[in-house]
Amino acid sequence: MKKTIRDIDIKGKRVLIRVDFNVPLDEKQSIADDTRIAKALPTINYALEASSKVILMSHLGRPKGEVKSEMSLRPCALRLSELLGKDVKMLEDSIGPGVESAARNMQNGDIALLENLRFHKEETENDPDFAKALAGLGDLFVNDAFGTCHRAHASTEGVTKFLPSVMGFLVEKEVEYFGNLLNNAERPFALILGGAKVSDKIAVIENMLPKIDYLLIAGAMAYTFLKSRLKGIGASRFEDDKINVASDIFTKAREKNVSIFLPGDHVIAQAITAKTRVKVVTEHIPDGWIGLDIGPRTIKKFENALKDAKTILWNGPVGYFELKPFSKGTAHIAKFISRLEVTSVIGGGDTASAINALGLADKMSHISTGGGASLECLEGKELPGIAALQDK
Ligand code: AMP
Repeated sequence: MKKTIRDIDIKGKRVLIRVDFNVPLDEKQSIADDTRIAKALPTINYALEASSKVILMSHLGRPKGEVKSEMSLRPCALRLSELLGKDVKMLEDSIGPGVESAARNMQNGDIALLENLRFHKEETENDPDFAKALAGLGDLFVNDAFGTCHRAHASTEGVTKFLPSVMGFLVEKEVEYFGNLLNNAERPFALILGGAKVSDKIAVIENMLPKIDYLLIAGAMAYTFLKSRLKGIGASRFEDDKINVASDIFTKAREKNVSIFLPGDHVIAQAITAKTRVKVVTEHIPDGWIGLDIGPRTIKKFENALKDAKTILWNGPVGYFELKPFSKGTAHIAKFISRLEVTSVIGGGDTASAINALGLADKMSHISTGGGASLECLEGKELPGIAALQDK
């Protein structure tokens, strides 16, 4: 078990907190969705209530080591000020003399936000000098950015070499949920995998097969599996070099007594646009047509498989949900799960966005804030940003 912010004395200390303020911005540089900022509040409030001097750091977007004003964290400082009802000082950079003196001059209960860490290429390179410079701003380090814990960057891993390092409440909650899923999930346990690529999820399937009872496969990744079973998939997206892997997974699932559910009918179109003509077909998809969502029979079949589950883990939308004609499957499955008495965990990324957009976020047990990080947890990997923290 790793130490949390509760396990150390933070009173009056300079607490350097890695948060995930990588929020979506619209064209006017306004925050389109502040979920990530809101999720960091418990740790921030706890530190403020303990009269710490709170120094927050985050990345935003991919500026690739250059200062790009459109990726400034300034809008996040403003939004956080509104949420806290308290001034959040926006600093000009993440390292350097100006930042150091600002950090030194903070009073107990003050809060500041460093500028985008990725304006320095040293952040993603995990450069030790950069990490040391960040660490110099604080007395203690708290990692509360689950979404970047799978990356060994200066602000997640490098910094821990120089400061006592613990996890914040958000990371603690994520670790708890994923730990339970991996080690003592209540059975039956259903895993729903969708999204674009089989290749992203092979390691997850391999690691999870011994722990689950049902595997529901949808989204574009289903077409690689269907092709391996010699179904006609028309012009659907699939991965030719993963067809053997898909066949292998059927064999392994049989050995482990896991039932695999694949789509039996499909919403198809000839173009991926919102206005295109759509049809529903069962079994084979005709040439030139693309499978873009699960059909009504598959929705029923999936719901049947899910209704007795005690644990459901869902990663990846079951259709091309960004376009309305192909969003029904994802919406139906989400609504169905939201009505069950079940431990429901939603992997981050697109699935989390879909659930948020449907207004069902508070109906799920846990929505992860990390897409890539949650996948790596499910692969059974230890995340470098968490491994580097102090043990209890
Ligand atoms: P991932 O990042 O792997 O979870 O993939 C998410 C993406 O997969 C979303 O943008 C979905 O629109 C896309 N997706 C889901 N189903 C399909 C499909 N049948 N064909 C193409 N893309 C899909």
